[in-house]
Amino acid sequence: MQTIADNHINYLRELEALTLEFGISEFIPHWQKDTALHKFIRYVADIMLEDGNSGKYKISFGDDPVHPKWTIPLEAALVTYGIQDEVEWEIPKVPPIETTRDGITYVNDAPELRDACYEYFQWMRLTQAYGDLLHRISDEVFFVMFTNRVVLQNLHKYLSFSVTESSMDYVEAEHPELVKFYTKSGRMRRTTIPMWARRAIFFRDRGLCTECKKDISGLLNPFSKENYDHIVPLAEGGLNDVTNLQLLCEGCNNEKSARLEPTSNRYQRWF
Ligand SMILES: [Zn+2]
Repeated sequence: MQTIADNHINYLRELEALTLEFGISEFIPHWQKDTALHKFIRYVADIMLEDGNSGKYKISFGDDPVHPKWTIPLEAALVTYGIQDEVEWEIPKVPPIETTRDGITYVNDAPELRDACYEYFQWMRLTQAYGDLLHRISDEVFFVMFTNRVVLQNLHKYLSFSVTESSMDYVEAEHPELVKFYTKSGRMRRTTIPMWARRAIFFRDRGLCTECKKDISGLLNPFSKENYDHIVPLAEGGLNDVTNLQLLCEGCNNEKSARLEPTSNRYQRWF
């Protein structure tokens, strides 16, 4: 799942296409514990699972090493994550197709085998077990990506395009339940940051200003809301989402409007 972090820019492009096409209604309600980053990871994991379970990759299972049974990686993942007790589906045994060209014999899977994998995967995709797997993956990957503010900045920049693109007329017509989250001008309303979100950001950024690295843990009430800054500002279509927050000292917070770069890629050493 490191791939998600490494290739996040590529997937963001697809996410942008998706959100522009279908809107970003899921991302709009404020301060969801199922954060924008969780949703993004599930979206990417779903694409990767579809690609990895089309019959290209096979995993052996069963107790008989002489006659191994094969399944798709999804089944193995469900067992690894404890969502299923055992592999519940075997790739049907279809004889491979041999073709000879210029004296060389090529052995390929029969199309029926790929079709069977594809159909099984598409059926599984609708199950609770598959949803559970995506949630387990998103919790795991979130743990790594939440600390990477450049990933968060890129994600929220992409999402902000959709916020600024969608008109209030559209929101009122299609998602009247979401109107309350917007200002009149179609940006997110400024609201109190919940304590759990402040706590998460304070500990992630370890009480230091993310810009100048000043230790602000002793200077101010650590949970005073003044120090919690939207990485992509609300005025630019940023979301009220814990993954769009960072800790800033008062000086850097006041300066931020003049700066172009909304976050810092300099990280504090752990020790
Ligand atoms: Zn600072």
